[in-house]
Amino acid sequence: MSKRSNIVVQKYGGTSVDDAEKIKRVASQIIEKKKSGKSVVVVVSAPGDTTDNLISMAAGISPDPEIREMDMLLATGEQQGIALVAMAIHEQGYKAISFTGHQVGIITDSVHSRARIKSINTKKIKKELTQDNIVIVAGFQGISPEENITTLGRGGSDLSAVALAAVLDAHVCEIYTNVGGVYSTNPSIVPGAVKIEKISYDEMLELASAGAKVLQSRSVEIAKKNNVRIDIKSSYIDEQKNSGTIIMKEIKDLEQVEVRGVTLDKNQIRMSIVGVPDRPGIAAKIFGELAEENINVDMIIQSSAHETGINDISFTVNREMLKRAVEICGRIKDELKARDIITDKDVAKISIIGVGMRSHAGVAAGMFKLLSDNNINIEMISTSEIKISCVINSKKGKAAVKILHKEFCE
Ligand code: ADP
Ligand code: ASP
Ligand code: MG
Repeated sequence: MSKRSNIVVQKYGGTSVDDAEKIKRVASQIIEKKKSGKSVVVVVSAPGDTTDNLISMAAGISPDPEIREMDMLLATGEQQGIALVAMAIHEQGYKAISFTGHQVGIITDSVHSRARIKSINTKKIKKELTQDNIVIVAGFQGISPEENITTLGRGGSDLSAVALAAVLDAHVCEIYTNVGGVYSTNPSIVPGAVKIEKISYDEMLELASAGAKVLQSRSVEIAKKNNVRIDIKSSYIDEQKNSGTIIMKEIKDLEQVEVRGVTLDKNQIRMSIVGVPDRPGIAAKIFGELAEENINVDMIIQSSAHETGINDISFTVNREMLKRAVEICGRIKDELKARDIITDKDVAKISIIGVGMRSHAGVAAGMFKLLSDNNINIEMISTSEIKISCVINSKKGKAAVKILHKEFCE
């Protein structure tokens, strides 16, 4: 077993730093960790609703702001968070210094609003740690090779924390948030959701990418790749009682659990290109062009009418991508002489996830029957070995989560 460094990376989400009292509490908790003999690196998000408020401000000025300027704007939220946390630590008599992503050398690619981290120069952080400082780093941001400020996608502070933990060889990455860990579903929808004590990277990755906002999915990918242990905990519970959820490589005795969690993703929209010719290469063209523009497509359905030689192709993309996806599909529609493009914003994706589903037949059928018994129409389906997802009308999203959770997780 490789020996990890003495460094702990902690991350505090926006909900944990949204007023002075919470910031002081966070500062005390960071100091406790420092007093236990660890070198502490802390990633902080933008306080409370700062990011959403900045997005609204921009929308009041331009319906389509340049994404470079958007990143410049949104990165300021995290800068507020780090300075305030550093001040609170100073106030309690400890040394701390805050840095932006740029200042600590978090280099990303040039894809604004969802940049990928390419490298992190750890020299500065390590130097500050040896000088007994607690190092506070702004989450969610980096700098491109052209020296433009970039952001890492919504929830991206989780990614900053995990990436720092990886390059610093930290023995743990502690993610503090407003719930006590990862639950069998969103506890704000189902108050009786069950806390998961331990979960594997693979299951967490599926939960996160299916909409369990508690951890950004890309952060889980990086954790898995670099074997970073993540502990998710509440920032409101005293450390001794704060067991949280551990995310790690291998969890034994999982075979028993059929469904580990239920998720709801309301951040999807459905697009259909209607009346495209039924010939080889059409899907490759549509999804190739979307991929070239960095637009991730999630679920895909092609319905073919053999007699007419005409197909409809439907797929889901993230809501933020709507405008660009419509532009690209408009171009493709003209080229292919397709009949129409239809967008549906009132959709939600519900999923059930669990590695135990591999060895249990009939889970999918059970899910479909439950939805139909409750008069919930399924518009799209996708299945993998450990996940079943259905697109339904968004108005029925929460009800569907409650029904599925009751059946599979209670
Ligand atoms: P932070 O500001 O700490 O980054 P987020 O709002 O991004 O917090 O993530 C925490 C939220 O994720 C919770 O308040 C909860 O509503 C939501 N959530 C969704 N699914 C789950 C789940 N399965 N377990 C725990 N929280 C979940
Ligand atoms: N502040 C950013 C957001 O709201 C990043 C984060 O919170 O992780 O998405
Ligand atoms: Mg978050």
